[in-house]
Amino acid sequence: MSVSFAVPQPVIAAVENSESGFPVRRVFCVGRNYAAHAREMGRDPDREPPFFFTKWSETVVPSGSVVPYPQSTSDFHYEAELVAAIGKSGRNLSTSEAHDHIFGYATGLDMTRRDLQLEARKSGRPWDTGKNVEASSPLGLIKPASETGPMNKGAIRMLVNDEVKQDADLDQLIWPVADIVSFLSKLYRIEPGDLIYTGTPAGVGPVVEGDHLRVEIDGLSSLDVTIGGPAQ
Ligand code: MN
Repeated sequence: MSVSFAVPQPVIAAVENSESGFPVRRVFCVGRNYAAHAREMGRDPDREPPFFFTKWSETVVPSGSVVPYPQSTSDFHYEAELVAAIGKSGRNLSTSEAHDHIFGYATGLDMTRRDLQLEARKSGRPWDTGKNVEASSPLGLIKPASETGPMNKGAIRMLVNDEVKQDADLDQLIWPVADIVSFLSKLYRIEPGDLIYTGTPAGVGPVVEGDHLRVEIDGLSSLDVTIGGPAQ
């Protein structure tokens, strides 16, 4: 039997005021990076090094998307997050070197099958099926870091049908972005095209078909998605 399907094309994320997009290479996510969210998930916040999980690049979808309600869950959750887009490769970076490797920032959502994630957590199994779900990583326009400066403070908000559900400040990140990039670069050589979802504040919750989700972060374009019907 010959292979007859087309080679999958990379996902190209949109960059503000630019024709050229940002080809997505890998998606890294940080777990438990706001103390209040760690508590709501039944864990004590600490300053242990951040931990990471990964998603396929094809889970990244643009603002304006309809995110199908995935199969095998009845507890699909939003998690509003600041996303850092890597523009330069590097390994074993210090926190001060890390800034140089960040191309830009965007608003993001780490959509999660919470029931599957919690089952996995309870039984000491990997989180993949809870986290790495089709269309689960919506991403707003990437704004170059040369325009934003370091994103270490500023409001981050999650609205569901115009009601505020998450309302925090980036200065509450347990590990700021530069520290996260530094830690990640001690595990992998980071590469241009990598996206890092930096964790969500308190207030996560479920969505249903028809919900309109909006993520706002001061200084960045907002991200809007609608929850669709069952994934086909
Ligand atoms: Mn998350």
